[in-house]
Amino acid sequence: MKIETKCLHAGYTPKNTEPRVVPIVQSTTYVYDSTDDVAAVFDDPTKSLIYSRFENPTVMAVEEKINALEGGIGAMCTSSGQAASLLSLLNILKAGDSFISAATIYGGTINLFAYTLKKLGIECIFVDADASEEEINAAFKSNTKAVFGETLANPALTVFDIEKFAKIAHAHGVPLIIDNTFPTPILCRPFEHGADIIVHSTTKYMDGHAVQGGGVIVDSGNFDWTNGNFPEFTEPDESYHGTIYTKTYGKAAYIIKARMQLMRDFGCYPSAQSAFYLNLGLETLHIRMKQYCENALTVAKFLESNDKVESVNYPGLPGNKYNELAKKYLPDGTSGVISFVIKGGRSTAVKFMDSLKLASNEVHVADIRTCVLHPASATHRQLTDEQLVAAGINGGLIRLSVGLENVEDILDDLREGFAAI
Ligand SMILES: *Cc1c(COP(=O)(O)O)cnc(C)c1O
Repeated sequence: MKIETKCLHAGYTPKNTEPRVVPIVQSTTYVYDSTDDVAAVFDDPTKSLIYSRFENPTVMAVEEKINALEGGIGAMCTSSGQAASLLSLLNILKAGDSFISAATIYGGTINLFAYTLKKLGIECIFVDADASEEEINAAFKSNTKAVFGETLANPALTVFDIEKFAKIAHAHGVPLIIDNTFPTPILCRPFEHGADIIVHSTTKYMDGHAVQGGGVIVDSGNFDWTNGNFPEFTEPDESYHGTIYTKTYGKAAYIIKARMQLMRDFGCYPSAQSAFYLNLGLETLHIRMKQYCENALTVAKFLESNDKVESVNYPGLPGNKYNELAKKYLPDGTSGVISFVIKGGRSTAVKFMDSLKLASNEVHVADIRTCVLHPASATHRQLTDEQLVAAGINGGLIRLSVGLENVEDILDDLREGFAAI
C-alpha cells in the first residue's frame, strides 16, 4: 500500500460482517477459558491480550497504523508526547547513564531532559545540532547510551541532519531517537535515513483537530541491542521471570520491553476512546499535510515581501539557512508552522496579534485552524526585553501555525493586522 492508502486501511481489516470502522473496545479486561490460559498469557504477554494497561484492541489498531506509516517493526501509544519521549529513553538508560540531545528541541522536552531526568540520575549532554562531526564525537562519554533530535524543531524550525547523527551514534554503538512530530511520516520517514526509534506527540498534526492529546513510540527493529552496551536487553529480566528480550523477541526487543516493563510500571497507556479520535485524524493526514505545506509556503512568501516584517523563518523558503537540509529530508514541504519577527518589538507584535480575527491566540500549534502565539508574552513571559535578546527571542517574534482555511482568508486576516500597526 502507498502511504495515503495506509492512512485509511493499515491496522484494521474487518472480516465478514464485522464493523467497517475500527470499533471502540470499551473493556478494561479480557476473559480466558481456563487458569492455564491465564498462565500462558503471563508466560508470554505478546500471545494475547492481558489487561488494559498493556494493550487494547482499538489502541492496537492505531499502533499498527502508525507503525505502517513510519515503516517500523512495532509501535506503542502513550497518553501524551511527553510520555513517549520519557519512555523512549528510560527503555535504554538508567541512573548513572548519559545521552546526547540536540539543543534545539521542544521546550517541554528540554525541561524533561535538563531537570527531571537529572533528578533521576540521567545526564543529558546538549549539543548544537549544526556542530561538526568532531565536536559531536567529543561530547560522547563512556556512559553515553543514546542520541536524540527533532526532525523539524518546535519552535526554532531548524532541520536536523538525521543521516549525520545516525552515522555518529552508530559509530559509538548507540541508537538515534527522533522526535518526528512536526513532519509526521507524510513529510519525513526518519527510519529511511538511519534513525532507530521515532517518537511523536500525536496531539499535533496526527490528531490534527485539537481534540485529543497522545503520543507514540515506533521501533525500526534495526538497532543491534546485543552489541555489548545494553545488558538490560541481553540479560534475564527478574521482573519478568527471567525473560531475555533479544533472545525471545529478536528484532522487536526494544518495543516489547517498553510495553512489558515500562508501560506495566508507569501506566501511561491511552484509552480506547482517545485512540479512536486519533485514528480519525490519521485517516486524512496525507491530505491535510499537503495543504498545510501549500498554505504555509504562500503565507511565508507573503510575509517575506511585507515591509513591516523584519525576518521570516520557514525552512521551505529559498534562502532559509535550513533550505538545503529541508530539500533533502522534507522534499514535499516543511509543515504549517512559521515564525516571523515584526518590526517594532513586543508592543507592535501584541497590537498586530490582537487585531487578528480569524487566527486565534492559542498555546497549541499544528491545529487545523490558524493560530498564533507570542513567545515573549507566553512561554518566555518572565523575561525582560534585555533577557529576551540574550535568550535569542525577539520581542517582535510571532509563531504562526497556518491552518486549512482558504489561504486568501488567512492573508486577508494578516493584512488587517498589518493595517492596525
Ligand atoms: C507538543 C510536543 C511534544 C509534547 O507532546 P504532548 O502531547 O504535548 O505531551 C513533544 N515534542 C514536540 C515536537 C511537540 O511539539
